[in-house]
Amino acid sequence: MLRNRHDVKPFKMAIRPGDTVVVIAGKDRGKRGQVLRTLPDRGQIVVQGVNLRKKHVKAGQSAAGTAALQGGIVDFEAPLSYSNVMIVCPNCGEPTRVKRVVLEGGRKAIECRKCGQPFEHLRRGEEQ
Ligand SMILES: [Zn+2]
Repeated sequence: MLRNRHDVKPFKMAIRPGDTVVVIAGKDRGKRGQVLRTLPDRGQIVVQGVNLRKKHVKAGQSAAGTAALQGGIVDFEAPLSYSNVMIVCPNCGEPTRVKRVVLEGGRKAIECRKCGQPFEHLRRGEEQ
């Protein structure tokens, strides 16, 4: 189905699934959690334990990616805006802004503005 999305700029989020983020706005402000999913084209992310909603489901229906075998009320994490969280640096443990850097050898990473350590894309490179 066509959607009117001419105002949505494609952009790359520094945040990836598996990162720890801290919520800086909204009712869950101050909570930390792991990123479960990212929705880059909507600029949203899903964070574990943050922005919990309840969904009423019938047996067999899936709710937010979780197949419900029994019907009932299911808690799930609703997406929240990327701009409402800050990434937590794995080196210094502080919520931080990041800078994109290219390392020697051409690998891309993001760098903590506070301690200056590159991380994230470097770490992902090691997984592959
Ligand atoms: Zn840091």
